[in-house]
Amino acid sequence: MSASLAETAAAFPWFFPTFVFAIGACVGSFLNVVIFRVPKEESIVTPGSHCGCGQPIKWHDNIPIVSWLLLRGRARCCGRKFSFRYPFVELLTAVLFVACWLKLSPAVAVCGWIFLSCLVAATFIDLDHFIIPDVFTIGLGVVGVLLSLAVPALHVAPSEMLLLDTLRAGTASVLGLLVGSGLVLWILLLSEAILKKEAMGFGDVKFVGAIGAFCGWQGAVFSIFGGALVGTAWFAVAWLWQKISGKASPVAPPSENAAGEAVPLAFGAQVPFGPMLAIAGALHFLFFRGALATWFGEVAVLF
Ligand SMILES: [Zn+2]
Repeated sequence: MSASLAETAAAFPWFFPTFVFAIGACVGSFLNVVIFRVPKEESIVTPGSHCGCGQPIKWHDNIPIVSWLLLRGRARCCGRKFSFRYPFVELLTAVLFVACWLKLSPAVAVCGWIFLSCLVAATFIDLDHFIIPDVFTIGLGVVGVLLSLAVPALHVAPSEMLLLDTLRAGTASVLGLLVGSGLVLWILLLSEAILKKEAMGFGDVKFVGAIGAFCGWQGAVFSIFGGALVGTAWFAVAWLWQKISGKASPVAPPSENAAGEAVPLAFGAQVPFGPMLAIAGALHFLFFRGALATWFGEVAVLF
């Protein structure tokens, strides 16, 4: 950071976090468009935002988070309700952007913005459609490797020798991609052989590869096992809610049967695993990056 930027940050400690929050909210607003249009293979640029009734939405009614609150979740033109999910995605993205900014060095934080934005988009597309488009799996994996070469601090503590750092970071990224996708592929093949059904889909194979490209092999392993924990907790809470109240939980994971029809949540129903992987991957990226490498290192010493 240049001296003037550092001085600004010191004099106005809230300035950069507020600015980053606003950028994150705007990116979240764009992600809402991506989540809605990419699975339908529509352009994410044109046409501009418009209401379900066909009226274009004016810019002052399209301010992230704020407009939804001011209009109390209704369209100005026709009064139809807009889902709470729109401001939620904007708020979530904004909070993730600020978390990256506060926890990481600026270059790594910017990589984090790209990574976490793609995780958010993949999560909600998977919840809606039970698929993760290739751009957020294969595409994200390629971007992860390229960013690792450009910003070695994603994987290694910077040293004096930039070329060596670049090589080590690139290796860590490719290794993460291969170990992550390879492990999920084994889980997929074994579950097919033993249980005669898929515990995960091929989209998950590619998705964990992409998480590994950003988080290294430790992060890929963490996202698989952490994702299983997150999924179990989510399933248990939603299932208990359904048992006790007799109604489906409003935040239950969507579930479908083998034929792809929506069914009530039950053991044996298929639920999208992408969101669980993404939550664990994001937690690893923000909180466990260095710590986990140390932990694996200590375990390795024991043997
Ligand atoms: Zn309308």
